[in-house]
Amino acid sequence: MNDLLKLPLQSPYKEELPADPNMENYPRQVQRASYSCVDTRVPSRPTLIHESQELLDEWDVSIGDKVEWLAVISGAKRFQNFQPYAMCYGGHQFGHWAGQLGDGRAINIADLMILDQPMQLQLKGAGPTPYSRTADGLAVLRSSIREYLCSESMHHLGVPTTRALSLVTTGDLVKRDMLYNGNPQDEPGAVVCRTAPSFIRFGHFQIFASRGETDQLRQLVDHTIRHHFSYLGQPSKDTYLAFFQEVVTRTKDLMVHWQRVGFVHGVMNTDNLSILGLTIDYGPYGWLEDYNPGWTPNTTDAQHSRYRFGNQPNIAVWNLMQLANALYPLIGEAEPLQAILDGYKDAYLKDYHRMMCSKLGLHQSEHVEETFVTRLTQLLGQSEQDMTLFFRELSIVGSSDWEAFWQMLGKTSYMKAHEMSPLHTQWESWHTTYCDLLLAEDQEPKVRRDSMNAVNPKYVLRNYMAQLAIDAAEQGDYGLIDELYQMLRRPYDEQPQYEKWYTKRSEWARNRVGCSMLSCSS
Ligand code: AMP
Ligand code: MG
Repeated sequence: MNDLLKLPLQSPYKEELPADPNMENYPRQVQRASYSCVDTRVPSRPTLIHESQELLDEWDVSIGDKVEWLAVISGAKRFQNFQPYAMCYGGHQFGHWAGQLGDGRAINIADLMILDQPMQLQLKGAGPTPYSRTADGLAVLRSSIREYLCSESMHHLGVPTTRALSLVTTGDLVKRDMLYNGNPQDEPGAVVCRTAPSFIRFGHFQIFASRGETDQLRQLVDHTIRHHFSYLGQPSKDTYLAFFQEVVTRTKDLMVHWQRVGFVHGVMNTDNLSILGLTIDYGPYGWLEDYNPGWTPNTTDAQHSRYRFGNQPNIAVWNLMQLANALYPLIGEAEPLQAILDGYKDAYLKDYHRMMCSKLGLHQSEHVEETFVTRLTQLLGQSEQDMTLFFRELSIVGSSDWEAFWQMLGKTSYMKAHEMSPLHTQWESWHTTYCDLLLAEDQEPKVRRDSMNAVNPKYVLRNYMAQLAIDAAEQGDYGLIDELYQMLRRPYDEQPQYEKWYTKRSEWARNRVGCSMLSCSS
């Protein structure tokens, strides 16, 4: 087994793309460059809280020198002698062009090839960079726990995502005004080492296009295609279009996954959309509990709920349109880009329908009317059904008689029984159609249940669970982080030892900060 710390470095991003010639670390506009060299901040007292042994195993690597490793993943020492760097990108935030953003608190510390795939290691919270603007480049423990647990859990749910390798506390305090209400507090600082084949975002392309830096734009697109979409062929105008099509497809697939598991990203700005179609930047995200398509956990977005659960697929197209605008200078024609964008909606609706049918155990989705699915999602919302519990229980009770089904609905709802009563007739009619559809499929109940349980997770990182792990960690107890980590490694399995987590959100969590309300302050 290879020692991760001794793997050879290989950084086409740094070698092929233009560097900021300025080596000083202070906030500034960085023109005509894809990155700036910057050193990580040395923490006072780094302590390892958790690491993903699983990811190391997947990579078939071990850690030879643990002391060296802790120094590397906390920012105290370089990975071999690799010069760390922060990337330049821009973005639309909440629908408005925000200009240059960039890695304000992310620093790439190693670019490697692992199992013949490029793999970048990036520290989040290891100090300021030229892109930090007025902020400190640091991260607090609560948001680092949330990123660490959620990205690993998404991976095990089968949702494309960046991964997390480790979580350390720095021993330094970080000031944050959690609710932006003028009450800043000192919080424990932390650093997550996260990994992905590439952290390139839509905003990487936008910044060059916005500045008319077409040569740099072309270099970046060619680099991205060569290293991450090489199967599309050598860069050319046709390949650029194929590349855009590929990003559209991957982003659409990601949206279908988020709808499947009930994930709300919370900040779908164009700087938070990965060119590889990965879930990236876990900030004020949340998991749908009562099925409300209008819900967003992000209090910063509470007024317009732009990034609410049900709007994510639309926002994805809006963001893809911004990417199309950024690629336009290389293509010179709007029509082919528009044609690709136009294809998104039908493709999404088709895949969404198939996905929802699979959650219902209906494999002949072509025989299921779209209105049947729409009626379900409406009823789920109106009767405040817990999304995860409903679909999981459905595999057991779905084809039972109406009484048993209605009883189940009572148990999986956040409403009181009398509040549910007006929906009795509508649910009964939906259930009758459902039973007819199931009969027509003629599947063995066990086969159907297994297939449903493979797409309907039993365990997700409910907002209150992450908060409990945070509360304990802030008191120095990291046991719950490990418990949730272990449980979320197998989200589709029954795992009776974790049954206590298979339950509705407790009443105390309904309006508690961190459980249903989060801000971008992290
Ligand atoms: P977000 O929407 O949280 O992904 O962040 C938007 C931009 O702000 C990105 O360019 C981040 O790098 C930057 N940013 C967020 N938090 C900090 C921080 N604490 N210090 C420096 N930059 C930050
Ligand atoms: Mg971001």
